Amino acid sequence: MNKINKDQHIFEMNKNHPPALKVKSGSVVTFETYDCFQNQITKEEQSMEALNWEHINPATGPLFIEEAEPGDVLKIEIQRIEVNSYGVLAAIPEAGLMGEKVQKSTFKLLPIKEDKVIFNENIELPLEPMIGVIGVAPENDGVPCGTPGAHGGNMDNKKIREGTTLFLPVFQKGALLSMGDLHGAMGDGEIMVSGVEVGGEVSVRVEILKAKAINNPILEDSEYFYTIASHKELLGAVKEATEDMHKLVMKELDLSFNEAGMILSAAGNAEICQVVDPLVTARFGFPKHLMKKLLEK
Ligand code: CA
Ligand code: ZN
Repeated sequence: MNKINKDQHIFEMNKNHPPALKVKSGSVVTFETYDCFQNQITKEEQSMEALNWEHINPATGPLFIEEAEPGDVLKIEIQRIEVNSYGVLAAIPEAGLMGEKVQKSTFKLLPIKEDKVIFNENIELPLEPMIGVIGVAPENDGVPCGTPGAHGGNMDNKKIREGTTLFLPVFQKGALLSMGDLHGAMGDGEIMVSGVEVGGEVSVRVEILKAKAINNPILEDSEYFYTIASHKELLGAVKEATEDMHKLVMKELDLSFNEAGMILSAAGNAEICQVVDPLVTARFGFPKHLMKKLLEK
């Protein structure tokens, strides 16, 4: 079995990391992952000061895919996500949308049982596992695993879950795919800066698509295609995701600029992934019943 253990991890996505594993296009690989705190939080009384902040957002990898060359597309079918038996939620001063009002850091350890995350004796959340950090080595300088971008990274997009397919641009030979930061549940926005942070295992099938090019990550689930973009400001992220989808729709459906825009306006959804990371991330969803195939033309 192709497996990368969690002790093989990086804190920055860059082209210089030696591969943890080399495989051929078409392989299935399992990534074992730490939670975003590198499993440092083991009790609710834990003090923030005791945390090693150098060890935040580890991503397991990188995986080298032999056929991958700059300008290709890496197709990642997310076949399975399994999470550990407890997750961590955090409230941290100066972090997230209300950080200025958080007086003291608090951690909550939440048992995960079957398909539930137990918040307290009265509140249970449905277990909805997703991948917070997944990306390739970027085009230029290295990017910390806590930051999203054209290479993927910390997109915190709750739609990246089991059964979906993610397409990433390849910037470096081998692509160098890494992932981590699983969440047992997360709302759009991730407003307090954490989802239900949890370690676990992800199995993916990787495939290299030649003679295709994309600027930014694209996701496919059973109902939608999503373009995903990250930017300093939310409106900039929404605009970039919208423009990426507009280009795809214009090309795949043979529509004029204005017509493609009209279809997006009538049937597409501009949505928030997260607004709390060093860059914020938006996605634009377009229904698959209107555009059956992606990257065909
Ligand atoms: Ca994250
Ligand atoms: Zn996270």
